[in-house]
Amino acid sequence: MRLSKMHIKTLREVPNEAEIPSHILLLRTGMIRKLVSGVYGFMPLGWRSVRKIEDIVRQEMDATGAQEIHMSAVQPAELWEESGRWYAYGPELWRLKDRNGRDFCLGPTHEEIFTDIVRNDISSYRQLPMNLYQIQTKYRDEARPRFGLMRSREFIMKDAYSFDKDNAGLDQSYQEMYEAYDRIFKRCGLACRPVEADSGAIGGSNSHEFTAISEVGESEIAYCEKCSMAATTERAECVDAAPQTDVCELAMEEVHTPGTKTIEEVAGFLNLDKKQTIKALLFVTYDEEGNENGYVAAFVRGDRELNMTKLINALDIPEHAIEFADEEKMAAATGCVGGFTGPCGLHDCTIVVDSELPGLKNMCAGACKEDHHLINVNYGRDYKGDIITDLKVLQEGDPCPICGAPVKHARGIEVGQVFKLGTKYSESMGAMYVDENQKEQPIVMGCYGIGVTRTLAAVVEQHHDDNGIIWPMSVAPYHVIITLVKPDDEAQATVAEKIYQSLADARVEVLLDDRKERPGVKFKDADLLGIPVRITVGKLAGEGKVEYKLRRDADKEEITIEEAISRAI
Ligand code: ATP
Ligand code: MG
Ligand code: MG
Ligand code: MG
Repeated sequence: MRLSKMHIKTLREVPNEAEIPSHILLLRTGMIRKLVSGVYGFMPLGWRSVRKIEDIVRQEMDATGAQEIHMSAVQPAELWEESGRWYAYGPELWRLKDRNGRDFCLGPTHEEIFTDIVRNDISSYRQLPMNLYQIQTKYRDEARPRFGLMRSREFIMKDAYSFDKDNAGLDQSYQEMYEAYDRIFKRCGLACRPVEADSGAIGGSNSHEFTAISEVGESEIAYCEKCSMAATTERAECVDAAPQTDVCELAMEEVHTPGTKTIEEVAGFLNLDKKQTIKALLFVTYDEEGNENGYVAAFVRGDRELNMTKLINALDIPEHAIEFADEEKMAAATGCVGGFTGPCGLHDCTIVVDSELPGLKNMCAGACKEDHHLINVNYGRDYKGDIITDLKVLQEGDPCPICGAPVKHARGIEVGQVFKLGTKYSESMGAMYVDENQKEQPIVMGCYGIGVTRTLAAVVEQHHDDNGIIWPMSVAPYHVIITLVKPDDEAQATVAEKIYQSLADARVEVLLDDRKERPGVKFKDADLLGIPVRITVGKLAGEGKVEYKLRRDADKEEITIEEAISRAI
């Protein structure tokens, strides 16, 4: 490709909105173009690098036997109601209606869609295991889109879903994905650390995040230099969701009154045909002797019109005990739109979760203390079994839970995550298979995401200097750039043209900077663009020599034209 013909516009200045190197450099090289906050387009060089990452991802996924498909970004609300996430997902879900008022969303992820496919197509154990994936555009209406491709509202993700007969099968699928991720990030030139995403679940984690080490990363990890222990420090966040009440409790996902009613019963009281319409999780409080003394708070997400009185009646909550939560605050803190809380006897009570709900993410929880309401509570990570035990994060210098050496902290970029879903989706959506004994069983699932465009940004974070990007060969938009110092000089032009043609004929991905620009501009742009190999055709051209330099090295060499061509091929 000739730079004189390429649609490219590099910037000398650092754009105002950009704070971190990858954002600055991807804008300055003209590789990405902002449309609105958190929404970017890709220009020719940027798109080439995206496709290189996609190709690496595709090759490694295919090598595991996973099969590529391509689903729509537009998803009907009905599937999300079935899984229970239409309300639970909160304001990050980009919702829209069609002309007939039917609800849809732009997919932030595709568990529902893939589960739907599999429940229609899979019926027997003979068809399992299976892994389906896609490389596709995702939408998340992030609260704070920032850092360019790092946290955008539209981004490209590879998402894979595994379907197995049982947990042993899932463990194997998970391991295969984990190893594929290792290879993918290595091939992209990223130094990555896989970290446990579940707190303390050493040895049997349900999830790992692949974190590219970087100062500007938004994830913090605790790790040990002596052994392999590494975990995210991400935890439930403390917010004061309902500070005006000195009561306990919280919300989301399933309603149980202590011992009495199931979610189906409550739904029945309310004449709701879909149990997913109510979203509340009950935490019961107990006194020191272990007697139930406390009680529920129920909050609704999404449907403001849901009749609260009916709900309260259904839950048998005495009227005097009810205080309505500050709904506006609640909505801001948790994404819930309505709710009530009821008192429990003790102020410092143990919080006990009424039921085990594996796979639940980002619930709300709370206790009868100010500042003890939590959002983003994740089963497994923040609580296990019945009790929220330990929200403490491993601090720097704490003894490593495996080997006792002092724990260190580092920052990183979450470029991928692997997650054992179990039967959360297959049970709620009825994805079943018939086993060897003619018994119907739920399919056991895993999900595996890679942020393709975030990976591009992470590569730039790890590979740049003050002058620009230093692409690893595997994801560089082009491998070689020929800088023709003086296009008007016939000897130079002829030599540059010869090298360009020879490399192009050999299918080397080569750029020829034949623009009528000052040499200084061209050298600056070559550094900025970060093409790994630079061949400069200048004064020495008449003697049959050129300058050969790798972007990552300081030294240059003067070599013959033939030598330059053979090295570059
Ligand atoms: P984060 O913790 O950064 O918000 P996440 O845990 O919500 O990410 P996942 O649901 O695990 O993200 O999605 C899989 C992958 O998609 C992530 O590991 C990340 O690489 C990428 N990703 C997620 N959100 C964004 C975003 N807003 N912009 C770009 N990439 C993203
Ligand atoms: Mg997120
Ligand atoms: Mg995350
Ligand atoms: Mg994640």
